[in-house]
Amino acid sequence: MSQFKNHSINTKLIHGGISSDEATGSVNIPIYQTSTFKQEIPGVHKGYEYSRTGNPTREALENLIAELEEGIAGFAFASGLAAITVVLSLFRAGDKLVVSDNVYGGTFRVMDKVFQNFGIGYILVDTTDREKIEAAIDENVKAVYIETPTNPLLGITDIRTVAKLAKKKHILTIVDNTFYTPYLQRPILEGADIVIHSATKYLGGHSDLVAGLVVVNDKELAEKIAFLQNATGGVLSPFDSFLLIRGINTLGVRLDRHVKNAEKLAQFLQGHPEVKKVYYPGLKDHPGYEVNKKQAKNGGAMISFELTENHNIHTFFRNLHIISLAESLGGVESLICHPASMTHAAIPEKIRDSVGITKGLLRFSVGIEQEEELQQDLEQAIAASRV
Ligand SMILES: *Cc1c(COP(=O)(O)O)cnc(C)c1O
Repeated sequence: MSQFKNHSINTKLIHGGISSDEATGSVNIPIYQTSTFKQEIPGVHKGYEYSRTGNPTREALENLIAELEEGIAGFAFASGLAAITVVLSLFRAGDKLVVSDNVYGGTFRVMDKVFQNFGIGYILVDTTDREKIEAAIDENVKAVYIETPTNPLLGITDIRTVAKLAKKKHILTIVDNTFYTPYLQRPILEGADIVIHSATKYLGGHSDLVAGLVVVNDKELAEKIAFLQNATGGVLSPFDSFLLIRGINTLGVRLDRHVKNAEKLAQFLQGHPEVKKVYYPGLKDHPGYEVNKKQAKNGGAMISFELTENHNIHTFFRNLHIISLAESLGGVESLICHPASMTHAAIPEKIRDSVGITKGLLRFSVGIEQEEELQQDLEQAIAASRV
């Protein structure tokens, strides 16, 4: 860990991990674009043998995210799903996980269509309700896997409550912290064992790379994840590791602006007569408002909402000029998507409807453009899509 371990997150974002190059004094970590490293005699080397196992650029990133999340070890992968795949590979046939009932569609898909074939099961539960989690834990359940806020309905789960329950049952707490990042929420400090990121989103922050991260807080778990990372091979490249460090350096200033815009736009949408429902954990009437306030800095920058029935959603999308219709989130530019047909299409309609991912639901990733202009963009598109 770096000499900045005990500094504030704003300083750690810039100087955490390994932030400069010992050999040359370069203030940025170079892109070590190499697959292999010279050895003096077999096994005698400078700490690196082969870039799947370890690469200095990737290692700088891995140390940085570990420090930001207050864990003991970090691991970088070629995508969020590669990170999730390694975490799920900790389990064996017969094991089951209790999972938040509106997790990211791709997370559901890999559990349902891949790991289930290997005998690793899942039980979908409304994890905002402790009783329901406890009722679902039998002797085969080995972990609780949560997103808070959930994607796309922004439900809030009390991490501390889940972690306490999981500890009592001797099982793991896994938190996907993609929507908040360590700048807004640090699950390990609440008792989580494993934190996962799709770094493609806010950590990268510029919609220009795909990456995943895992942080753990236990030596034995760190050894297992390191083994799986090397054994399965879905590692992040040196160039993308460099880009991701560069993104993380500005995470604080970007998120401050993202959140400021989102807070204003959530209020605007809530007050709009043609908006039926707004989901934003920073609004006082959100059911998870108090729990969120306890464990996170604010309500983040993702807003989901539904227009009243007399709107054509396709016309709405076509009339947006600043906000782009696209999958993904967390970049500097505002993006909007239709979960039922895009990000969450992999989830069967029956499950989607039962959890509230309706055909009218829109998920809005608020960017850092001028807030008044984003508001105008929404306003005119809502008016133009009236039928
Ligand atoms: C995007 C996303 C993932 C998957 O990450 P990729 O980088 O796209 O593989 C996982 N969890 C959440 C919450 C996401 O938003």
